[in-house]
Amino acid sequence: METIQNFINGQVIESNTDRFSPVYNPATGEQTRQVVLSTRSDVKSAIEMAQAAFPRWAKTPPLRRARVMFKFKSLLEANQDTLARMISNEHGKVYSDAVGELTRGLEVVEFACGIPHLQKGESSANVGSGVDSHSIMQPLGVCAGITPFNFPAMVPMWMFPIAIATGNTFVLKPSKKNPSLSLMLAELLKEAGLPDGVFNVVNGDKEAVDVLLTDPRVQAVSFVGSTPIAEYIYTTASANGKRCQALGGAKNHCILMPDADLEMANNAIVGAGFGAAGERCMALSVVVAVGDEIADKLVSSLTKSIDTMTVGPGITEGKENDMGPVISAVHRDKILGYINSGVDQGAKLVVDGRDCQVSGHENGYFVGPTLFDDVSPDMTIYQEEIFGPVLSIVRAPDYQTALNLINQHQYGNGSAIFTRDGETARQFSEDVLAGMVGVNVPIPVPMAFHSFGGWKRSIFGPLNVHGNDGVRFYTRMKTVTTRWPASVRLETHSSHFTMPTME
Ligand code: NAD
Repeated sequence: METIQNFINGQVIESNTDRFSPVYNPATGEQTRQVVLSTRSDVKSAIEMAQAAFPRWAKTPPLRRARVMFKFKSLLEANQDTLARMISNEHGKVYSDAVGELTRGLEVVEFACGIPHLQKGESSANVGSGVDSHSIMQPLGVCAGITPFNFPAMVPMWMFPIAIATGNTFVLKPSKKNPSLSLMLAELLKEAGLPDGVFNVVNGDKEAVDVLLTDPRVQAVSFVGSTPIAEYIYTTASANGKRCQALGGAKNHCILMPDADLEMANNAIVGAGFGAAGERCMALSVVVAVGDEIADKLVSSLTKSIDTMTVGPGITEGKENDMGPVISAVHRDKILGYINSGVDQGAKLVVDGRDCQVSGHENGYFVGPTLFDDVSPDMTIYQEEIFGPVLSIVRAPDYQTALNLINQHQYGNGSAIFTRDGETARQFSEDVLAGMVGVNVPIPVPMAFHSFGGWKRSIFGPLNVHGNDGVRFYTRMKTVTTRWPASVRLETHSSHFTMPTME
């Protein structure tokens, strides 16, 4: 059984742990590898190496750091097939979706290639007579990333390309459920010319995370995962004096207005609800249909669309499946528990995905696409994040009731509206309490040069990931005010005891 180790100071380093976690292929249910659960001393040694590499890397000209990113980008492209297969084998998502995830990560690398421009700071000449002012955006030091299972490539790449390009060093703690990809990324960064110690990977669980949250050498922590853990990470990192951004869970709603293009909305809703088996933080889990007429039509068209969907392994010889398995047996059972609770609490189960058999993959963790109608806000399936292929339809009498539902929900990651009316769309974009908004776009994931993040209990901390917020997060501003006397001889110097103001 292959054991996945750590990557510290430019090489694979064996952990001194006696704790391991199994890694499965979710499509077959077979254990394929095991991963080390690092000890405190493993993590300390990664931080030490990152700390040692920092001064030199921080002083490396941004253009040279950007060139490493350019090379890394071309290596990601050259190795796309291997990386996508690895994602699919350990996560379960279908191959083309794994390629899509890699592309979204690659776009952040492309953004980081522009770091000499992004990190220029600001400058003002003559802020006073003969006085100039400029700001420098300096790196922080050792930064840590703690990432979830659902995007083993994209979410780490939301973080480390910008952290590294701005001159920091990085310790990544990926999900123990699919850790292999992070080590592959570490090898590619090395091949791209990144100096040893700048990027390190430690595998593990809470024991490893707690070292990253408390060690005084770690300056900043980026976290993406479930909300209870995000709260813990944010509180602990902040209490230990660290800068922190912690992105949590979601319950993404869309409003379907009576004037929407139903065919377009239906296709968008099917893809956004069931793509990646609903294991996306931007997956659509609730459709609020305004009026019974459009709700009835939607239920009927969704039922037909779901009927044509294929569920199976992420990698196939012939035609690709629409949806793969979920991540683990435990998670499958949790999703089935939610479906049972929906039935028990009175929602109408229109399509039942509970008994999903995939021939030749009897031990895989499959849940079929599931559709509920007549869901009400007091039901558990409405209130909680299911993180599986379960779509709920809530019926609302009017737009305002639909908007109020979204605004009262504990989460506020993505939200969308389907309508042909520009004024309604504009009003929705203005009034909805969510960080990312789509107008006739079901998964409004911002591009790398914008920033990604939700509102309410979907994020803790003031700065989002990537885009300008990402650059801000991984740098600190220093503002320098300069006066060069024309000549020391000519100037009469005297002390001033009032608050300096510019003349
Ligand atoms: P998770 O919270 O279980 O794990 C995330 C990370 O935290 C992992 O690295 C894990 O090892 C670590 N962790 C888990 N328990 C911990 C503990 N007690 N103490 C310290 N660290 C701990 O999340 P997951 O199941 O891997 O991922 C799914 C969740 O991530 C969903 O809730 C999803 O919405 C969320 N997510 C959010 C976004 C976003 O941008 N908001 C993006 C992707 C995923």
